[in-house]
Amino acid sequence: MMSDKYDLIVVGAGIAGLGIAAILAKEAGKKVLVLDQFPKFGGRLMSYSGYPEEDWRLEIGLHMIELGEKSSCNELNNRVGKEIEWAPFSETVEIWNGERFISVAELVPLTEEDKNVFRGLLQRIATMTDTEIEAWDNRCLEEWLMENVPQPSIRELFTDLGMIMTTIPNAIDMAAGEVLYIARDNLCKTRQVLQASYPLDGMEGITKGLVEVIEENGGEIRLNCEVQEIVIQDKKALGVRIPSKTHIYQEEYRIFETEVIYADRVVCAVPIYHLSKIIDFNPETSPLPWWWVKRITDIQHEVTGLIGYMIGLSKPVIDPNKRCFLSALKTKHAGFPFQGFPASNFSPHVAPEGKQLLHTDIVCEHFEASDKFKRERLLNLMWEDVKEMFPGIEKKMEWRLPYYVDGCDGLARKPGLVGNFKPGLMAPGIPNLYFAGDTYVGRGLATNGAALSAMKCADLILKEVAKG
Ligand SMILES: Cc1cc2nc3c(=O)[nH]c(=O)nc-3n(C[C@H](O)[C@H](O)[C@H](O)COP(=O)(O)OP(=O)(O)OC[C@H]3O[C@@H](n4cnc5c(N)ncnc54)[C@H](O)[C@@H]3O)c2cc1C
Repeated sequence: MMSDKYDLIVVGAGIAGLGIAAILAKEAGKKVLVLDQFPKFGGRLMSYSGYPEEDWRLEIGLHMIELGEKSSCNELNNRVGKEIEWAPFSETVEIWNGERFISVAELVPLTEEDKNVFRGLLQRIATMTDTEIEAWDNRCLEEWLMENVPQPSIRELFTDLGMIMTTIPNAIDMAAGEVLYIARDNLCKTRQVLQASYPLDGMEGITKGLVEVIEENGGEIRLNCEVQEIVIQDKKALGVRIPSKTHIYQEEYRIFETEVIYADRVVCAVPIYHLSKIIDFNPETSPLPWWWVKRITDIQHEVTGLIGYMIGLSKPVIDPNKRCFLSALKTKHAGFPFQGFPASNFSPHVAPEGKQLLHTDIVCEHFEASDKFKRERLLNLMWEDVKEMFPGIEKKMEWRLPYYVDGCDGLARKPGLVGNFKPGLMAPGIPNLYFAGDTYVGRGLATNGAALSAMKCADLILKEVAKG
């Protein structure tokens, strides 16, 4: 068994886990093994082809990537020598006002004087330092707006933009630091407050290059393998325990028979809300300090839920030449923020010719997405909203696929849950155990936060490797 020892085992084949493994395999020639419980890599960025019929390509839910070719996930791919092909940026963000989709400028009309003030505000944000932004990580956007923006119309406009960035409807619940960071990043890289794009290959376009790099450099990816435990002894991670034999009615009536795979270092690239399944969280026996276990337990449900529909249309309900992102602050029937976009307007590869693939969702609390009765009720209400937004949609619909996700894009971007307030990348007291992904230290909108955390974690490991 010891002869199979790896330099690095990564639990989780999402963008964070694949990114770390690709960097360590390529830059340091390390023997890496990535394990994932699902039959396909990608984690929450997973894509499917040929479902429900030939020529459609779906994701597990609506995704749009902040900053496209200027994003952290693009930087991660470039770092290991891979390119992502992006569709051009979205041209418009349109907001549903209860009757029609309108531009942000129409939603919050500004006087010429207000426009000048707004431009000045953006200039100030673009030149903020990291330290100035970090000082707002545990304070809310409402406080920042009250201190910095006297004009109510500009406060309203900025709150609406913050909602699109955080999917949190009220400024009092948004972490000012994260909104300012995202706005600064966008302004410096694209001169816009918000810019998003879609890979031509769908979300798989973001992760498939990382898989190639791992395999090209002798690394291994083992799917359908649910890690049971990170094996920790005498303040050292020894490896991971995986099932060696499964039985019929596994989990209901039987316990896995297991084996241990050994490694010099282990990375948990799984979100914090899955950690208690692979690390003992019992205060009396946990190998990690109690303050850490308590902190993770306290915040693990601070996540958002998504429910929505992927919709396949025989004819477009949105002009096929328009690359737009659609949003609503609060819909009439379901009563939650809405997001949608025609993925096939960005990439011709995701729908058969002449047809349209429309991604939609509403953002709710995690308990609303996880309770199947609440979820069903919300999905029905949401469909009433969708019918009003896209008149005649039912006649053009070939199929619709309802979906839900409990814990969609990392920790909710609320005060005290962003930036350096997120759980760290190293396990306290266990120097060869690391964490990475969108629920750990990292910045930017979800996928980019996960990619940045992967690069930071890989750099920490490389530093340790260099020490010998
Ligand atoms: C529906 C939906 C919509 C989204 N929309 C956007 C968007 O518009 N823009 C954006 O930037 N981001 C979006 N996100 C968020 C984005 O997908 C995530 O931030 C990102 O994919 C997180 O990557 P990760 O590597 O941190 O985690 P994950 O992708 O969750 O990877 C963790 C992996 O660990 C595996 N795992 C867990 N436990 C075990 C175990 N015991 N053994 C083995 N494997 C295990 C899981 O199977 C998973 O593959 C969305 C997410 C969802 C679900």
